[in-house]
Amino acid sequence: MNVKTDLRDLTYSRLTEYMEGLGLPASRARFVFAWLQRPGTRDFSQMVDVKKEIRAALAEHSVISHLVPAAVEKSRDGTVKFAFSLDQGAAVESVLIPEKGRHTLCVSSQAGCAMGCRFCLTGAMGLCRNLRPGEIVGQVLAVLEYMMGAGVVRTPPRELINNLVFMGMGEPLANYDNLIAALRILMDERGLEFTERRITVSTCGIVPRISDLGRDVRVNLAVSLHAADDETRSRLMPVNRAYGVDDLLDACRSFPLPGKKVILFEYILLKGINDAAGDARRLAEKLQGIPCRINLLPYNVTQSLHYQCPGEEHILQFQKILRDAGYRTFIRSSRGADISAACGQLASTGNKR
Ligand code: SAH
Ligand code: SF4
Repeated sequence: MNVKTDLRDLTYSRLTEYMEGLGLPASRARFVFAWLQRPGTRDFSQMVDVKKEIRAALAEHSVISHLVPAAVEKSRDGTVKFAFSLDQGAAVESVLIPEKGRHTLCVSSQAGCAMGCRFCLTGAMGLCRNLRPGEIVGQVLAVLEYMMGAGVVRTPPRELINNLVFMGMGEPLANYDNLIAALRILMDERGLEFTERRITVSTCGIVPRISDLGRDVRVNLAVSLHAADDETRSRLMPVNRAYGVDDLLDACRSFPLPGKKVILFEYILLKGINDAAGDARRLAEKLQGIPCRINLLPYNVTQSLHYQCPGEEHILQFQKILRDAGYRTFIRSSRGADISAACGQLASTGNKR
């Protein structure tokens, strides 16, 4: 069987090569690319500024995939969760978070996750499969289409979503090549034009890939740290047995950030495990010299995992120690908890392993 190429998987340079390979003029690639990155493009017939013969040749060899949400759930706090069913039994979710007139979209990079962090529901599912670039970009296009349909039409699509964070399902750096292709597509000025400052990739700490990311593309980096000592971190996050805390922080020190940006460290607070005053002091010590911000994530209790969240007083104490040590530290109360859209709660039941 001849499988057709999905043009939504292609970066601009790959699309140009692809069209040349079909004997089509490379000069038309920018028009085709612009259509592919427009929410609502489903079919070659929509590409009115591209010659009919070119459209016919493309239609013969390729397809334009698109994602349609299987379900859209709205939280009381305005957060919207989109569930997508993909082929091969995969299912992913994206979460749109409105805040002070701005919108952040949290996208997934894999269906499930193989990293096995003990506190994370996505981790408990295991990995179903990697997402293709078109499925990563497709989440953004589908959400933009939803927003435009909801009446926010006057704004050009590229301004509707202010920030894109790779904090949904999956470990982005474990799906590296597809992540890079998706970033290149999303950041292309001929398309959606997300600037480097508006994109954040979050990782559990696959150290060699952090260096690769810094070399290949300029984006903001978030690191799920969750413990500042190897013993605790290895217990919570198996990845730490391969790449320990010091190696991880060295990779952070040499990561080239977009101008004036800092690394975001995420630190989940688990009662009795990583929330003691000594843990906060050790964290402050370890992060010395790294331009950073710390987000404390009170653990979102899930029934299947047996951790607890510390009390509010305790969390404030932890924050105070870090603030007194000079770190910008915020408590990120989770959004969309009532619709299971909060951090660590994304675990579509659709995924088949
Ligand atoms: N795999 C990447 C991207 C996912 S980001 C990473 O781990 O960084 C999702 C964030 O939510 C991570 O910081 C993760 O550690 C955190 N998280 C997972 N389970 C959680 C839970 N139950 N409560 C609060 N945060 C959680
Ligand atoms: Fe995977 Fe991130 Fe969850 Fe760990 S926290 S299991 S890396 S999604």
